[in-house]
Amino acid sequence: MFERPDFNQTPWVVIWEVTQACGLACVHCRASARPLRDPRELSTDEGKRLLREVRAMGAPVLVFTGGDPLERPDIYELVSYSASIGLAPALTPSATPRLTEAAVEDLKKAGLVRLALSLDGAIAETHDRFRGIEGSFEQTLSAVGWARRLGLEIQINTTLTRTNQHELEQIAELLSAWGIKTWSVFFLVPTGRARYQDMLNAVETENAFERLYAVARRDLFPVRTTEALHYRRFLLQRKKEGAPQTAPNPWAPRGLPRGVSDGSGFVFISHIGDVFPSGFLPLSGGNIRTQPLADIYRHSPIFRALRDHDQLRGKCGICEFRHICGGSRARAYALTGDWLASDPTCLYEPASRSLGKVASS
Ligand code: SF4
Repeated sequence: MFERPDFNQTPWVVIWEVTQACGLACVHCRASARPLRDPRELSTDEGKRLLREVRAMGAPVLVFTGGDPLERPDIYELVSYSASIGLAPALTPSATPRLTEAAVEDLKKAGLVRLALSLDGAIAETHDRFRGIEGSFEQTLSAVGWARRLGLEIQINTTLTRTNQHELEQIAELLSAWGIKTWSVFFLVPTGRARYQDMLNAVETENAFERLYAVARRDLFPVRTTEALHYRRFLLQRKKEGAPQTAPNPWAPRGLPRGVSDGSGFVFISHIGDVFPSGFLPLSGGNIRTQPLADIYRHSPIFRALRDHDQLRGKCGICEFRHICGGSRARAYALTGDWLASDPTCLYEPASRSLGKVASS
């Protein structure tokens, strides 16, 4: 188990988008992925240098993402290299014909630790509509079977939207038999191809938290949210009310420590080397072709500001939960253009605001 590092110096999770090429056409794709590879992608050698920098920073979790990482022929070499220098690589393939049993075996042989697969519906119709390709659901189920046989850790990522929220419990039921390590539920941020009208509003988000909490209490597998930091606030509120807890640190599957958020313990490197606080917040702190990753993460103004929750504005800026939550900076940016503004999908009214209302009434 890793000690929690100082997030001013060291990220916990490093995500490298090795390519934006992908054979799928997901309706909510963050990357607006395309069929062909971008000639400006980081080369194999640039990628290896990046991996050495990640290792030198001491980040515990490295994820190869896309697009579809399997679109890069050198992906096995990169996975193998990362394992050889002491990283524990995870990878998020797309469920296309490239994702075969042989490919999963080769990834395992190369040193892959975790396979993270997307599942956006409990039935083929819902999932395939999301992913834009018929057969993607079956392909995902097959990949789960191969990963289980090979002893690879499995993470399932689900993007929750207005069109699939009703299947939340059914998806959880499906996952309960798979022995997964983490269910990571992404709350839609309207960026890339994702549409505003598909995003859950504040009431729907709070309702989804209640239902996720009910799933988490069944202790089937660890449940984590992405771009929904206010789930931490929700859990703390339940704890204060004396409700049964799901785990000693319920947002911490695989040791994920408290306080990881965009730019704070989390960093995303794009296919061309731009360094972002997350894949959903398209504000670059610099490029690894011209500056070391550590310099960008530690010193760029945007990363520094994101780690200072006292700079938040609006409701999040006065909220007593801002140091464990702070809201989704990516969603604030996507909806208002101000990445320090409040997360509009939070139902909570900070105590000081409620007191202010009482005092002025
Ligand atoms: S108001 Fe902002 S900081 Fe407070 S719980 Fe909601 S999203 Fe989090």
